Amino acid sequence: MPDLATAPEVTALSADNPFAAPFTLPYGLPDFAAVRLEHFRPAVLAGMAAQRAEWEAIASDEALPNVANTLEALERSGEILRRTMVVLHTLAGSVGGDDLHALESEIAPLLAAHGDALYLDRRIFDRLESVANAAPLLDLDDETAWLLEQYRKTFVRAGIRLTDPEQEQLRALNARIVTLETEFSQRAVRSLVAGALPVHDPARLAGLDEGTVAALARNAVDRPDDAAGAGHLITLQLPTQQPLLARLSDRKLRGALLEASRTRGSGVDAESDTRGVLLELAKLRAERARLLGYEHHAAYIAEDGTALTAEAVRAMLERLAAPAARNARLEAAELRALLETDHPGGTLTAADWGFYSERLRKERFDLDDDVLRPYLELDRVLTDGVFHAATALFGITFHERPDLAGYTDGVRVWEVKEEDGSGLGLFVGDFYARAGKRGGAWMHSFVRQSRLLGRKPVVVNNLNITAPPPGEPTLLTWDEVRTCFHEFGHALHGLFSDVHYPTLSGTSVPRDFVEYPSQVNEMWMTDAAVVGRFARHHRTGEPLPQHLIDKLLALGAYGEGFATTEYLGAALLDQAWHRLTPGEVPTAPEEVEGFERAALDAAGVGLDLVPPRYRSTYFNHSFGGGYDAAYYSYIWSEVLDAETVEWFHHEAAQGADGGLNRAAGQRFREELLSRGFSRDPLASFRALRGRDADIAPLLARRGLAE
Ligand SMILES: [Zn+2]
Repeated sequence: MPDLATAPEVTALSADNPFAAPFTLPYGLPDFAAVRLEHFRPAVLAGMAAQRAEWEAIASDEALPNVANTLEALERSGEILRRTMVVLHTLAGSVGGDDLHALESEIAPLLAAHGDALYLDRRIFDRLESVANAAPLLDLDDETAWLLEQYRKTFVRAGIRLTDPEQEQLRALNARIVTLETEFSQRAVRSLVAGALPVHDPARLAGLDEGTVAALARNAVDRPDDAAGAGHLITLQLPTQQPLLARLSDRKLRGALLEASRTRGSGVDAESDTRGVLLELAKLRAERARLLGYEHHAAYIAEDGTALTAEAVRAMLERLAAPAARNARLEAAELRALLETDHPGGTLTAADWGFYSERLRKERFDLDDDVLRPYLELDRVLTDGVFHAATALFGITFHERPDLAGYTDGVRVWEVKEEDGSGLGLFVGDFYARAGKRGGAWMHSFVRQSRLLGRKPVVVNNLNITAPPPGEPTLLTWDEVRTCFHEFGHALHGLFSDVHYPTLSGTSVPRDFVEYPSQVNEMWMTDAAVVGRFARHHRTGEPLPQHLIDKLLALGAYGEGFATTEYLGAALLDQAWHRLTPGEVPTAPEEVEGFERAALDAAGVGLDLVPPRYRSTYFNHSFGGGYDAAYYSYIWSEVLDAETVEWFHHEAAQGADGGLNRAAGQRFREELLSRGFSRDPLASFRALRGRDADIAPLLARRGLAE
């Protein structure tokens, strides 16, 4: 076995390795059936070696630097590595298993070092600088000029201007940071599993429907060790609040469930204690930011987004904090009154919130997930909801391709076609939860669209819907319907990408912009023409009664005080940890809780009744990497989302075809979705809207306006 700690030798990948050559399935869909575990390691090593050789050829090219021999050559490099990693990440995320996770942990620091090999290579940076200096003579098109600027920025942010000893220090920090991020993620998953709550007395499950009770019984059978002899096992979901808290009438059980959730990673058991890891991460990220010339990690991250500065992020979050907390307190007063009828003199706790909020929702809106679910069948939601809206707005159509296989049973593939019948790309749907699959919902790309490489997009949506017993329909909650629309908004961003360079393709936009198209797509689930179509009884085909639809639409800002406050709690924690200098990071695991408390109190969202959506010890967005110092992104992009929803309504009012306005859809596609990161994303927004975004529609939507 080669020594993984050093740069791998250039070795040819044996021809029987499926990653050795491009996949030949339609649209370059990976041939999962051909891939086995033992293919990954040699393909990753050979892929890194091949890309290093490609970079070396660019760096040592004697010809004058130009677009073709520098920018395009960079864009074309790394094919083997790319196709290997996309399959590895897909299987690790959606199928899981110790072998794949071990492989990911082993590879993470190698990949960090691999990135450093490019971005700390002064010869390549010098070539980019030469191209930039010659730019006036080269007559670059806008996208090429933008790409060049992005590359130069990435090199600078990655430390190209540091001295040799500083670069050595940086390489060490990068390697350690990714190792810790992987460690955090894996511990967070362990803590999620370990937090499962056995229930010995079935009477305590009062409030749950039969199907849910049966699912909890299946959990206990599937995981006898965790069930410890109990007949039912409640498994945990990622955020602090657990869905069952809304339905369990046993107050003590609710308390135990929330406690199991919020103490995850806090040293309940050593295996899943994340505190030491997160403290070291906060410190090392702060050190790296200092080394690169930034005040702290939050400043380093904000600069790479559309926010630009940590101060802008802070100002935005602080502006929302006080009105959100005020609304949450008003909501608490209403819930307290309800609790009083059940438990005279009782004190409302965080574990009661979901339960009484659900009761209030039922009383006020007469809405009940159990009443709605028979009308929300997955296939119908997709075909007559998600796909239908896309057809009406953009003219595209969906054709299932049962001849094309995903990576495991139940993964479905659709070919997406343009109005004229030509192929646009593939949409892959993996909707069901399974043991080993990571929690939550997400989109990613198997193939990124690029005209340079002649590629059309292949995009994937992952959800975690509990699979029904064989032969039964998949009935969704209203929230799961929202997730379908949301993730499909990301899918559209990938599918409509129409750019030259793969680096700028589709969803490769800054993190504080990427949620914008997906949030916009949620608007169609409540469009009268769409909901009237997909919400039909799975057995009778009867539409959801109009008075229920009216109530769904009337929900508006109900519960937004709580939702905004718990979100802001997490976003502010994420900022607080990453605004520290290295010396300010606490050193003892016991200090984590106190730090959290102080940070939340300082921001005015330290409400006991509304714990943050994620506490630090299981905040994978922040410490697993990916959304570190960037969890603010969701509300940041919601400003654009709320504006765009308003714009669609305005455009629809001009036309005759209801909210699903084909002309407006086309414009959204052309000015925004198709552009990917081929120009400044805020320029795309301005092209659509005719001006900069205003925060007012967001404040109105969340009930935060003064
Ligand atoms: Zn999203």
